[in-house]
Amino acid sequence: MSDKKPFEIARETLKQITARKMLPTPINYQNIYNEIAGVPQVPPFPADTLRDIAKALPTKTPGQQKQRGLLEYAIDRLNWDGVKTALVAYGGFTPATPDSGAPAGASALAGAESSAASAPALTTEFLRQMGRLIEFVQPALGSDDARFVEQTTALLKAIRQPNADVVAVKLMLVHYSDRLSFAAEDQAEIRKTLLKLLHQVFENIAELSVDEQWLKGQMDALMVASAPPLSLRRLDDVERRLSDVIFKQKDAKGRALQAQEEMRQMLATFIDRLSQITKSTGSFHEKLEESARLIEQAKSLTDIAPVLKDVVGATRNMAHDSKTSRDELNAMRERAIATEEEIAKLHQELDRVSAQARHDPLTGALNRKGLDEAVDREVSQVRRKETPLCIALLDIDNFKKLNDTLGHATGDAALTHLAAVARECMRPQDTLARYGGEEFVILLPDTALDQGMEAMTRLQRELTKRFFLAGAEKILITFSAGVAQLATDEKGADAIRRADQAMYLAKRAGKNRVVGA
Ligand code: GH3
Ligand code: MG
Ligand code: MG
Repeated sequence: MSDKKPFEIARETLKQITARKMLPTPINYQNIYNEIAGVPQVPPFPADTLRDIAKALPTKTPGQQKQRGLLEYAIDRLNWDGVKTALVAYGGFTPATPDSGAPAGASALAGAESSAASAPALTTEFLRQMGRLIEFVQPALGSDDARFVEQTTALLKAIRQPNADVVAVKLMLVHYSDRLSFAAEDQAEIRKTLLKLLHQVFENIAELSVDEQWLKGQMDALMVASAPPLSLRRLDDVERRLSDVIFKQKDAKGRALQAQEEMRQMLATFIDRLSQITKSTGSFHEKLEESARLIEQAKSLTDIAPVLKDVVGATRNMAHDSKTSRDELNAMRERAIATEEEIAKLHQELDRVSAQARHDPLTGALNRKGLDEAVDREVSQVRRKETPLCIALLDIDNFKKLNDTLGHATGDAALTHLAAVARECMRPQDTLARYGGEEFVILLPDTALDQGMEAMTRLQRELTKRFFLAGAEKILITFSAGVAQLATDEKGADAIRRADQAMYLAKRAGKNRVVGA
């Protein structure tokens, strides 16, 4: 036992830590302090860490449950012997095979410290993986919470020290995971709120666009596309649809403002003319009354002559004013007709622009332009992630006959039905596009050829279950499909061509089948 005073021991401890180039961790401080004070090295009881470990132990059997209870009891009393006994007994209830799931994992956890000591390579690898995990998780949690960012940086630093202090890291991990749970909750809440806001914006735009059928359709599609669960692909779709809508809204607004300005000008002219007419009619009346009075008082024809001259003059002026007003009103009417024609032309122009949007108005699927963009996006994902991509091309069988027997409108409804069933069968990351009249392309990311063909067969089965109803008549829609998996360095358009050739083979082989390219 040293006879130094505590503050002297503390000062000496700090000096020693610096001199020995040790990390200033609480554990190192405690060890050196004890060494200088001459007291035995008894590490502090890591109650929190042990509680975490106890919490992680599975309790699948009554025996495990009992021993975990005893372990928690021992931890509460800071009793190492109790901890040891409970853990050893817990191990007795754990199957010995390493691949038997959670209980084996729990036993590995219980022995973490000893195995860490006996297998330093394993510990290093474990810490390395832990570091990677923390680093990868970080971007998802944002950087708004400066304290959390600091904590993460410190933790990563401690983990990546050459001889990392596992116990200290464990303690830091406990604090980190506490804060992590808050940060993750925050991010989930932010996401939910943003989505709600987005919905409100869409709802409002939809309200404002009641008279624009195309816009209304797009807004409905946007509401569906922005419903959870969200994925990057769906957000991308939302973004594209929204930019189409904004483009159209801008045009519509410009057109409305122009029409409004012309109407305002016409109304101003009309009011102006009207007031002039009223004024000249008023003064004409006054003139007539005055003349009538003068005529009554007139004693001779000579007295009447100048009055008559005035009346003729006033009448002529009145007629002139009326003609001017009539001419101006006629001109105004002609301008109104011209404006109306102009607006009709703008409408046609806008419809043409709408056709350039990325979605097919009948089925809501992507059109060719939308498909081209989606193919580019998926192909670049394939190059980046080296995952397979399948492209399926399907063509409805005997569609012409359906049109001929039931009419074009029923044919349209059948196309919509097929698109709806396909969308329901597809995963959120798949893309549906209308390739031509009764031909559709489906992009299936992360899908190899076999699975792609299976997906198409599944869609065929689904269509046999969900009849298309033409009035009361149940119609079975079948299709033939070709599926191609994008080859290395192959262009998207070439893979579509191969899928098309395979589809043709499916037709030749008797229709209603799926052929791989
Ligand atoms: P197959 O089984 O060999 O594919 O025969 P099919 O009759 O389906 O194919 P074909 O190419 O001979 O006919 C396709 C028909 O699809 C012709 C066309 O009138 C019709 N069609 C194309 N686009 C539309 C559309 O938007 N609505 C409707 N109702 N019919 C369409
Ligand atoms: Mg066809
Ligand atoms: Mg066809």
